[in-house]
Amino acid sequence: MRRRNFSASLTLFAILPSSVFAETGDETKFDLIIIGIGAAGLSTAVSAAQNGVKNILLIDKAAFVGGHSALSGGSVNAVVPELQMKQGIKDSPEFWQRQIMETGEFQSDPVLVNTLVNNAQSTLHWLREIGIPFDDQVFEAWGGKFQRAHSAGQKRSGMTYVRIMNHKARSLSVKVRLRTEEVNLLEKDGQVMGVRANG
Ligand SMILES: Cc1cc2nc3c(=O)[nH]c(=O)nc-3n(C[C@H](O)[C@H](O)[C@H](O)COP(=O)(O)OP(=O)(O)OC[C@H]3O[C@@H](n4cnc5c(N)ncnc54)[C@H](O)[C@@H]3O)c2cc1C
Repeated sequence: MRRRNFSASLTLFAILPSSVFAETGDETKFDLIIIGIGAAGLSTAVSAAQNGVKNILLIDKAAFVGGHSALSGGSVNAVVPELQMKQGIKDSPEFWQRQIMETGEFQSDPVLVNTLVNNAQSTLHWLREIGIPFDDQVFEAWGGKFQRAHSAGQKRSGMTYVRIMNHKARSLSVKVRLRTEEVNLLEKDGQVMGVRANG
């Protein structure tokens, strides 16, 4: 199996000086490298590209894109009062946050929970904008505790999300390499500077 080194000079969170660790000399530079091509990786790639990051690489160890996301039922929780009120559902981010904290016996990180409950609506809106056809019907997802789930209405809506996000990523010139497994993060002074991958 061939070993490749990719180096990242930029991530979503910090601009890093370019640094390359070359073991075999077979190495390529990208501005952003994303490991894993499920919903998290694809949405990060699309968002980064929309925000001006160039030369983005997505890698996945599998031979196909999608990960667990492609198998998912695709229920996405979000408080969207204008849709929920049409069905007589009264909800709020605060109520949702309380439910999450109580369900997790107050072990969840409240900062992360706050980020989730207060950004879910705008995330849903963004997903619609990039082409995901969410229904207006709001329902209670399996294990979801309350009627605040949204989906594209199919049995496996996750596959639809992956297909649309993958198409969008490619239309924004994001590069994709399958059968490529991250084996090491290359660090310098405590900062991740690149990825060593087998592919
Ligand atoms: C049957 C099923 C139904 C579900 N239904 C719902 C639902 O209705 N609503 C909901 O919110 N959630 C649901 N989930 C959970 C949801 O699918 C996951 O939480 C979500 O898909 C996680 O997305 P992700 O992008 O983080 O991970 P994934 O989609 O799993 O993507 C991770 C990717 O990383 C790759 N990878 C891992 N390690 C490496 C490595 N070292 N190098 C390179 N690539 C690597 C994997 O091959 C994979 O493709 C469901 C899950 C399943 C299985």
